[in-house]
Amino acid sequence: MYEGLHAEEAVGPAAVSTGQLPPPGVVAAFVREAHERYGEVTDGTVADYIPALAKADPAWFGICVAGVSGETFAIGEAALPFSIQSISKPFVFALVCEALGGGRARAAIGVNATGLPFNSVMAIELNGERTVNPMVNAGAIATTSLAPGANAEERWRFIREGLSRFAGRELAMDEEVYASEAATNQRNQGIARLLHGYGRMYCDPDEATDIYTRQCAINVTAGDLAVMGATLADGGVNPVTKERVLEPERCRRVLAVMATAGLYEQSGDWLYEIGLPGKSGVAGGIVAIAPGKGGLGVFSPPLDAAGNSVRGLLVTRFLSERLGLNLFASAPAG
Ligand code: GLN
Repeated sequence: MYEGLHAEEAVGPAAVSTGQLPPPGVVAAFVREAHERYGEVTDGTVADYIPALAKADPAWFGICVAGVSGETFAIGEAALPFSIQSISKPFVFALVCEALGGGRARAAIGVNATGLPFNSVMAIELNGERTVNPMVNAGAIATTSLAPGANAEERWRFIREGLSRFAGRELAMDEEVYASEAATNQRNQGIARLLHGYGRMYCDPDEATDIYTRQCAINVTAGDLAVMGATLADGGVNPVTKERVLEPERCRRVLAVMATAGLYEQSGDWLYEIGLPGKSGVAGGIVAIAPGKGGLGVFSPPLDAAGNSVRGLLVTRFLSERLGLNLFASAPAG
């Protein structure tokens, strides 16, 4: 039976968090080792609830680490494009915070795991979709509805150009994935209309769902995810293009919500094992951020039951430990 992050695994000595990434040769060797080590894992299934995603080859497997000095270490299918899906959520949240001010975005969307009191019985009864923070669909569609612009075209441009600045290259939408999801996303349309009823939608709900579906269909590579993550690790400056995309005080807040809910109902397991803010997407991407050090992007389409890339989880755990990235890892001073 597939146990995912519940499976104890000796990945080798776990290094504690140091001020920077290990030397380039060490990073390159561990990236290679991670690819070899998990290349044979066949657990998980490729997502098919968006019909176009079912065409993915389960064998595709790419890894990239990008350091805050702009250096990258890639292996496998790290340049193969796939749709960003939910990994767009933290980056769009970041852009909206930058445009509106973090306080307003926070008040409009929320940043809690459940948004309910510590002793709430309702929190147990409610499922993830009703949780409002920018990492799950309800909060993410609300975030998209806050994108500045006089019309849908302008809002979409704000998002596509903003995500492109994070990646350091012009990103484009996958038309087939967009059309496929737009034809089957009744559930997201329902969420947006329900939020509209509760006064938590900030433009027309159908328009917001459409732009959200477009943002999820933007194509990226594992290499792009690593650079996008490294931008959040570098106080908001893209370490490759040197462009400032975000103010440093926004970065730390975006990373906080990613740590809270980036891997849905598996966020606790993720933080326990990996100790980094991260975000997964249903096309098989995962991004993890080591503040002050760099970003990690993994692409492998087979997913576990929570919708997280199986190899992506294993690779991030391995590299977090071997590269000393876990934010909670310390050793006695002496
Ligand atoms: N576009 C997808 C959806 O809204 C994104 C989901 C995901 O990547 N987990 O259903």
